[in-house]
Amino acid sequence: MKPLIDMSTEESRNIKAILFDLDGTFVNSDELKSQAYSSLESIREKGLKTVAVTGRPAGWCDLIARWWPVDAVVGENGAFFFYKNKDKIIRKTFYDLDMQYNNRRRLDELFEKCLLNFPYIKMASDQSFRQWDLAIDIAEETQVSTKEIVDIVNFAEGEGACTAISNIHINIWFGDYNKEQMSLKVLKELGLSSKNILYVGDSPNDSPMFKYFESTVGVKSVMNYEGLIDTYPKYITTNDEGDGFVELINFLISTR
Ligand SMILES: [Mg+2]
Repeated sequence: MKPLIDMSTEESRNIKAILFDLDGTFVNSDELKSQAYSSLESIREKGLKTVAVTGRPAGWCDLIARWWPVDAVVGENGAFFFYKNKDKIIRKTFYDLDMQYNNRRRLDELFEKCLLNFPYIKMASDQSFRQWDLAIDIAEETQVSTKEIVDIVNFAEGEGACTAISNIHINIWFGDYNKEQMSLKVLKELGLSSKNILYVGDSPNDSPMFKYFESTVGVKSVMNYEGLIDTYPKYITTNDEGDGFVELINFLISTR
């Protein structure tokens, strides 16, 4: 990883859209800071598109699509994306609703099996607002060790599920999608190619995005995931969480 300031002016000026993770990247551990939110407005005023890409639930993404200064939001690690067209929210899902019902049933069964093996685990507190996945809390309202995280992930994958580890949850789902695949569908919908797109994240679940896109940035805490993260970003900020996001936006604006 190189320091963010090593990004060339040319690379920065060519960027047409920012795809960004929320927890640990845009949102600090305890709250969304006004500077991060207003920096989103600032970069849109420069003509860039903004797309939130998160593991957070459909219920939260509905609000983001309706109220935030974004062109779209990808949620539940790629299960769907929402965007606003005039006053209407357009909702596109990777699979149809029959599959959602079927997957939900399978996830309920999988959680029962997980509980037998790992009796201390707790569902994430935002589980009720989820449509496509199961989120197990590892650091939001409870603490789970790295070894336990790896054991849970291996168990779920052994049962045929997909997993992603964020800074707060293990997300578990059935189906062949991830943040990267759904982001490509969003870009197409927005009339953009996958070139000149910047992605910023902080955690192992951002790895597919770090691998796919050319201009990738990690906020400082991305260094904390050694052994858990497959692909690191190209650049790293000196600040953490939302402050790292603001640092990135200020850098992009300074080159314009
Ligand atoms: Mg994150």
